[in-house]
Amino acid sequence: MRGLLAFAALFVAVLGKETYEGHQVLRIIPKDDVQLSLIKDLEDSIEFELDFWRGVTDVATPVDVRVPFHSLQSVKIYLETQDIVYSIMIEDLQVMLDYEQEEMESAARVAEPRNTDSYDYSRYHPINEIYSFQDMLVAENPNMVSKIVIGQSYQGRPLNVLKFSTGGTNRPAIWIDTGIHSREWVTQASGTWFAKKIVTDYGRDPALTAILNKMDIFLEIVTNPDGYYYTHNSNRMWRKTRKPNPGSSCVGVDPNRNWDAGFGGPGASRNPCSETYHGPSAHSESEVRSIVDFVKSHGNFKSFVSIHSYSQMLLYPYGYTKTPVRDQNECSQLMLHKNALNNTCFAVDQASGGTIDWTYNQGIKYSYTFELRDTGRYGFILPANQIIPTATETWLALMAIMDHTYKNPY
Ligand SMILES: [Zn+2]
Repeated sequence: MRGLLAFAALFVAVLGKETYEGHQVLRIIPKDDVQLSLIKDLEDSIEFELDFWRGVTDVATPVDVRVPFHSLQSVKIYLETQDIVYSIMIEDLQVMLDYEQEEMESAARVAEPRNTDSYDYSRYHPINEIYSFQDMLVAENPNMVSKIVIGQSYQGRPLNVLKFSTGGTNRPAIWIDTGIHSREWVTQASGTWFAKKIVTDYGRDPALTAILNKMDIFLEIVTNPDGYYYTHNSNRMWRKTRKPNPGSSCVGVDPNRNWDAGFGGPGASRNPCSETYHGPSAHSESEVRSIVDFVKSHGNFKSFVSIHSYSQMLLYPYGYTKTPVRDQNECSQLMLHKNALNNTCFAVDQASGGTIDWTYNQGIKYSYTFELRDTGRYGFILPANQIIPTATETWLALMAIMDHTYKNPY
């Protein structure tokens, strides 16, 4: 009987998590406008329950889509009938998820770190460990680091922002956030690494020291905490917030479509079941609203960087209109002399209600979005051994932006 109970408990534990057995991720390359619109039709259809990892943009630009097992045959037939070229990027998603889970569990057997030096930056950590990392960093660096709680998530988790400051009042400031899309795990992991890097390099790296002597840096590592918790405990592929939608069984809003910049326009969905659902109104999500209120009340942000994955790009506004921003050339200049990411700047693909469109309209000229590794081998399931290389190369690009902001005051 006891054995049976133990077995039953195990069964529940296994069933408690969303499984992706037999799901494939396909990479589709549209070769002309006709194919482009055929793939767009696929994006708009709900019957296949597709999850676009990289959305439809332009001819010859890859589109990555997770296809549930039950839709696999129909989708492949659809593509083949239209002569659309595709390849299988991930053969069975659950196999990759199982491997990631095993790695995490073996790391969890190691004792909890007692300080930020012994924190394992080359692993993915659950939310409570990132929260305690933040507290340790504050305790170890009381003269430079403080923790500000800018609000609460829908489920009541604190929205923690680390403030790095060497003094002054309301200095010009730089904002960095990671993990607003919860499944983009390499971003929260990189954010943690950045936090440690800032305290380590201050006083050692002349460029960072100069910046921190004049400016403050604000870093929100777990920008969508409910979503992040959910990716660890229920559904690894969760992207949105966790607020229920009245009148729908589908939960959550895309927090990168919820900003008051072209809200509800093209590139966002009005369907609560969509991964790009914009929400009932602009700033409806407390995870977004809290940043809006904080940025407005601070009033002195000069640079705003919002970090996502994947596809290795640096993006500048706008996503909601084709009108190029005035400072477009600066993006390219910035990246030309730094060997960071892949040296390319793009305007955000058509997507309304995005973070940096709003911050740019607030007058924050140096507003950028990063897409970190990779370009499409593992996608969101980036192996943990790539965290430190990813964070390191991203840091170069971040330093270029911060240094430029510091040297070009406005
Ligand atoms: Zn994202």
